[in-house]
Amino acid sequence: MAAKILDGRAIAARWRDWAKARVEAFRARTGHVPGLATVLIGDHPASQSYVQAKQNACAAAGIRTFHYRLPAEVDQETVMKLLGTLACNPEVNGILVQLPLPSHLDEEEILSAIPLEKDVDGFHPMNLGRLGLKGRDPYFIPCTPLGILAMLQEAGIPIAGRRAVILGRSRIVGLPMALLLLRLDATVTICHSRTPDLATVTRQADLLIAAVGRPGLVRGEMVQPGAVVIDVGINRVADSQAPRGYRLVGDVAFEEVAAIASAITPVPGGVGPMTVAMLLVNTLKAAQRQLEGFASPWLEDGL
Ligand code: NAD
Repeated sequence: MAAKILDGRAIAARWRDWAKARVEAFRARTGHVPGLATVLIGDHPASQSYVQAKQNACAAAGIRTFHYRLPAEVDQETVMKLLGTLACNPEVNGILVQLPLPSHLDEEEILSAIPLEKDVDGFHPMNLGRLGLKGRDPYFIPCTPLGILAMLQEAGIPIAGRRAVILGRSRIVGLPMALLLLRLDATVTICHSRTPDLATVTRQADLLIAAVGRPGLVRGEMVQPGAVVIDVGINRVADSQAPRGYRLVGDVAFEEVAAIASAITPVPGGVGPMTVAMLLVNTLKAAQRQLEGFASPWLEDGL
């Protein structure tokens, strides 16, 4: 079986256009330009390129960005003060603190200082908690899981009643992905670094989502024939032929798994562009909620 390739670049481009059209209509209705503040602490090279990509996408969609770059050794109080200022600034509708943070900073306190209604990454403990509770909506769904949902919806891949296995339990991807799929009535298993015999679990998955950060972790023999495989991993591997001396690969051994799965996301060009597109969607919704009173965190009106 040759898997269908879920083309994240193409789907994300349509969502970016979706957001751009709605940002323009919102500006015409309210006179307000949606604004996103990005906070980057330290000089982690991958984080710099992610923040740059997010800023570029905002600019293309008509969203204003306010960028704050702080040195790696910045103290907690300075970060908290900045977040306090951004929380009160009416031009800033969304606040994004790029993770990971330097280890001396208190991530919990920092993420909890972002007001719920500006938490466009959806990492505030209250937003994460609500995501897991039936009948309680979060203000925002984290961008990577939301982007994966958009891809599954576009490809017509059912979720309810399916067996989903998620590799990774991080706050950014694994845990919110699990909560989201649970909300959507999948039977969910979460695997992590202490899970023994991963293959026995992964082989039961109709939907397998890998968010670990280990190149080629998921091999062909770990996948049930016909499964849908979503590769979230972004790993730099040395490649002397590549212009930058490295290339990007996912957590999935792509060729092997594509021969077995029914659908698969490539890396690059899979989940990554969807994450950026969903940040635009969430920032627009933040502005709508703040100025017009309501915005659903779900993709209910589709493309
Ligand atoms: P993380 O380091 O915070 O979490 C990794 C998780 O993997 C942990 O929960 C850990 O328990 C688990 N793990 C480690 N070894 C394992 C193993 N052998 N088997 C099963 N689970 C194991 O990382 P993260 O922030 O969740 O990111 C994961 C990957 O996804 C990284 O490659 C990151 O670059 C990528 N990422 C991609 C996007 C995107 O938009 N495509 C967004 C965020 C993160």
